[in-house]
Amino acid sequence: MERKTHKVLGYDVDLLTFDEAVKVILERIKEKKGMQVVTINPEMIELAGKSKVFSSILRNADLVVPDGSGIKLALKLKGIEQEQIPGIDLAHELITSCEIFKYSVALIGAKESVLQTTVKRLKSEFEGIDICYYKNGYFASSKEDEIINALAESDPQLVLVALGAPKQEIFINKCRKKIPEAVFIGVGGSFDVWAGEVERAPEFFRIMGCEWIYRTYKQPERIKRIYKTLPMFLFKAIIEAIRKKD
Ligand code: UDP
Repeated sequence: MERKTHKVLGYDVDLLTFDEAVKVILERIKEKKGMQVVTINPEMIELAGKSKVFSSILRNADLVVPDGSGIKLALKLKGIEQEQIPGIDLAHELITSCEIFKYSVALIGAKESVLQTTVKRLKSEFEGIDICYYKNGYFASSKEDEIINALAESDPQLVLVALGAPKQEIFINKCRKKIPEAVFIGVGGSFDVWAGEVERAPEFFRIMGCEWIYRTYKQPERIKRIYKTLPMFLFKAIIEAIRKKD
């Protein structure tokens, strides 16, 4: 399937449905072509403005799905209707397929206790799942090569990396050189949700694209991050949309 994208503040975002995203990723796994999937949100775009490395990773990602409602809104301002594709839902759907097609899954990230619970819960939800490797996300950078070697040795087909942005995307970028056949996705705080450590927003908030409001209410420490990035992102997105209409 050829990529159809549209730029949001200079970064390509793929225009596709949730089901199409799943299909594209499964095809890559099947063809052993591998890819880096970015689940983009406004915070990441703001971070990329301050880091050349991160910016280049975002620009070179193979698939960029709009995780944040802010990205959906930025596209809407330009007259483009694009559904929000939460990374956590995408990852869950892919795990469902991995169980069916017997694709191996690796999990990297989160606190050790969270990771252990995640592995346990996934194994009970998906009895046939092949979790070939897992490692918590609190390792020294000097251990990175060792971890990447162990990951490569386990021969994963789907790798979910939950280190938060931009750490997870930078780590994935490094892994891809050694493990080009696997599909990598940065999934942020998904393991915390799967482990029951963090509550997912009720459906109402999700449908309204306001999951971030609920998360901020539940984890007030996030307010600093949002306050620093969201207003500026929205301001720039509005300016971009106005300029395009001229
Ligand atoms: N994390 C990690 N190692 C680190 C920093 C963070 O494993 O050095 C994990 C953290 O435990 C959490 C996830 O990365 O599980 C990031 O979650 P956050 O809610 O910040 O991500 P978001 O969903 O906002 O992208």
